[in-house]
Amino acid sequence: MQVLVTGAAGYIGSHVVKQLLEQTQKEIIIIDNLSTGFLHTVDTLKAIDSTKRRLKFYKEDLANFESIEKIFKENNIKEIIHFAASSQVAESINKPLQYYLNNSVNTISLVNIAVKYGVEKFVFSSTAAVYGEPEQTGQLISEECLTKPINPYGSSKLFSEQVIKDAAKVNKNFKYIIYRYFNVAGADVDGKLGECHDPETHLIPLVVKTALDKRDSITIFGTDYGTKDGTCIRDYIHVCDLADVHIKALDFLENNESDIFNCGYGYGYSVKEVIDSVKKVSNYDFKVNIGVKREGDPSILVANCLKIKDKMQWKPKYNSLELICKTALKWEENFSKEKND
Ligand code: UDP
Repeated sequence: MQVLVTGAAGYIGSHVVKQLLEQTQKEIIIIDNLSTGFLHTVDTLKAIDSTKRRLKFYKEDLANFESIEKIFKENNIKEIIHFAASSQVAESINKPLQYYLNNSVNTISLVNIAVKYGVEKFVFSSTAAVYGEPEQTGQLISEECLTKPINPYGSSKLFSEQVIKDAAKVNKNFKYIIYRYFNVAGADVDGKLGECHDPETHLIPLVVKTALDKRDSITIFGTDYGTKDGTCIRDYIHVCDLADVHIKALDFLENNESDIFNCGYGYGYSVKEVIDSVKKVSNYDFKVNIGVKREGDPSILVANCLKIKDKMQWKPKYNSLELICKTALKWEENFSKEKND
């Protein structure tokens, strides 16, 4: 019996596979088309597998339904953790159909095959973008809040959630956990894995690159929001804590019903606080520009995460902005060393 992890050559999926290798005895199948993920990440994961037998990698696109079905025929997949997706909000506005095809249509096809081949547990990587603009600024966002995405990325994920829920209604052996991530950041505490997007648009990796002189400066998108220091507030969750809840989800579904959970810490930091934290951990005072607001950025997005803490008895281990920035910095340093070797 194997667990299939789609998109595991990418940022979050790779951290999950590392924890699966280190904390379980499970055999793992990775499907990734390497469009945004990296072969060197798969190689890093293979090196962590001391048995050299627990990890199987298929370079394949989920859109190739026949090839995907062949993988199910060749193996005995009973659990799926599904990350493979396009995940850039701005890109989704310009290429909506690509997002609906790659995220929604491919998820429909994967769920269809999963049900056909008797998969029992499906863990889905969704996003806080399904909530859209919070109705009341500053209110913690709970799973009960209205889902009203404001971009095709959020819509494509919300539609996928619906597909999974509907499939589970009529297939009693098919259970799911849907995770809605807030701002995922940081890197593997051992320094082996980390974030690597091209182009990079996320705040923490951009600030870290600035601290390492890979960029001249960082620009704050707006300083006149109605927050304590005028800059946007986000709930940053360490990628290792996020990876851990995916492993927990597989155990949880043994004795519990399908469910939806927010993934965050329930506490927000401003853009200025993030920049100050990176300055502190890097001990480097880099240039900061004040820019205009970015379109579609709500001022405050913070999770109400009581449900996951209560139902899964989840206790975050890396709940510290400084640790998030420190691990992100270490990864960026190591990664550039590797590239220059
Ligand atoms: N941000 C910024 N400068 C940048 C990138 C991001 O000020 O170069 C801000 C952005 O406006 C938002 C926060 O940092 O308030 C987090 O943005 P990110 O793109 O990392 O994640 P998002 O919250 O958009 O998913």
